[in-house]
Amino acid sequence: MGREVAKTCPECGGEMIFDRRRYVYVCRACGLTLTRFELDKYREKRRFKENEEDSWKKDYLKWWLSSKK
Ligand SMILES: [Zn+2]
Repeated sequence: MGREVAKTCPECGGEMIFDRRRYVYVCRACGLTLTRFELDKYREKRRFKENEEDSWKKDYLKWWLSSKK
């Protein structure tokens, strides 16, 4: 019995675990619960939002993500 492949939380970037019983992804960090469909929708929204945001924010995010490694 292996663990489900984790997804990344669209809200906090935390690890999301698939709950087989409820058939949803649950974020271990912030508790956000999303169905697979909602997760996809979230990503679309996120992508759209990112396009509108200033480039410095993207650079900041890149820095923040790389500093987490
Ligand atoms: Zn989260």
